[in-house]
Amino acid sequence: MAEVDLAVIGAGLSGCSLVGRLQQLVSDLNITLIEAGRGPGGRTATRLRRDQSDWLLDHGAPGFALSGSMTAGMKELVTPLFSAGVLQRDERAVLSLNDEADLSQATSPEASPVGGWWHGVPCMASICEALLNGAGSAQLNHQFETSVRWLERRKDHWLLENEDRTWSLRAKRLVLSGTLLAHPRSLKMLAWDDVPLRSAVAEGVDVDLDAVLSQLQRSQAEVRWNLMVDLGVLALNDEKLPSQIWLNDPAKAHWNVERLVLQQQSDGRWGLVVHGLDSGEAITPESHGRLLAQEQKRLMALLPELLKALPVVSAALKQATPLGVMRWGASRPLNHPLPPELQWCPRSEVGFCGDWIEGPGFGTAEGAIQSGVNLAEQLHADRQSLVAAGSGSAW
Ligand SMILES: Cc1cc2nc3c(=O)[nH]c(=O)nc-3n(C[C@H](O)[C@H](O)[C@H](O)COP(=O)(O)OP(=O)(O)OC[C@H]3O[C@@H](n4cnc5c(N)ncnc54)[C@H](O)[C@@H]3O)c2cc1C
Repeated sequence: MAEVDLAVIGAGLSGCSLVGRLQQLVSDLNITLIEAGRGPGGRTATRLRRDQSDWLLDHGAPGFALSGSMTAGMKELVTPLFSAGVLQRDERAVLSLNDEADLSQATSPEASPVGGWWHGVPCMASICEALLNGAGSAQLNHQFETSVRWLERRKDHWLLENEDRTWSLRAKRLVLSGTLLAHPRSLKMLAWDDVPLRSAVAEGVDVDLDAVLSQLQRSQAEVRWNLMVDLGVLALNDEKLPSQIWLNDPAKAHWNVERLVLQQQSDGRWGLVVHGLDSGEAITPESHGRLLAQEQKRLMALLPELLKALPVVSAALKQATPLGVMRWGASRPLNHPLPPELQWCPRSEVGFCGDWIEGPGFGTAEGAIQSGVNLAEQLHADRQSLVAAGSGSAW
């Protein structure tokens, strides 16, 4: 079986930033990026349609804030994206909706961040795609539509396998950019009977990894149910629609919805994404289908009320086509971030990146990018020290 230098599980913003930054820093690394989805993006993925080839709807994060505190490495990673026009300022209005469904200018820090909103062009998935297509020369293989289920830590390498073990990969080092293989939520949600990373390295073998797993065990994440709708062409005349409508706290409590996102398609039609909050009912393989149908019905029924201050959009509801609900099992980590000093566990040669790493961007897209950059720089520095100590190209 061929062996790669590094296997990265997850092609969201953090995994792609890690790979993109490593490509900028190192020229002779052999990396495989494994992703359960059809392509890169993760929570900044874009929903396509089989029946409409040019339909692109950002059904996760519609954009994000970038603070002034980016490190030099992160700036170096994202600057080519600005230059290529893939990452652009979103100048469209962001509004707030109260519990009487009246609209006003958004002023909360979440809806109206300092520095404004940034988004991917033509869609959010373009950001991850561009990060992977950077100018680096490290050898990169993609393995999409592959969910890693089994992890095994052997003497000097990792063995990764999918559910039915028809796919496997041997890697000297491993990075997990999501928490699925390390968090007990998988036990209930996927009916797994073990936490794969725990099974791979028994308790007591690696104190750092034990600390990572115990921190994760305590952490919670927010569930989202995002309804996608094709609104068709709108009779706008010169009216400009907002990009997002954030519900204020009383409105959130009233409708159990966080925000509405409007996105125009290249053929003039409009897509709508309703970010529905969770009811708290346990998600299991048995309840999943029923909950998806329940949320679609609930959120569709709320639309006339939520959109009454935008007559041009509410008039389109008669012709609107629901496109299903996307369940985000962990849309945003809420607490117990992983301290950055635990991002790399040298004994087990496993590392972590993602928006669940402690820092100013915890729980946000910016934090995800920064965590990937930080881990890449740490791996690069470790590699340089090995070379300086005479271990040659140890990996
Ligand atoms: C609905 C929604 C709205 C949001 N709004 C905002 C916002 O307004 N502003 C903001 O800053 N952030 C927002 N976020 C958060 C932002 O999207 C995330 O912080 C960021 O995208 C996380 O990137 P990541 O790489 O850490 O994780 P992810 O994007 O989740 O990437 C992890 C990847 O790993 C893959 N994966 C996991 N386990 C396996 C496995 N076993 N095998 C194979 N692949 C695996 C997953 O499929 C996924 O693609 C939002 C998120 C959601 C869901």
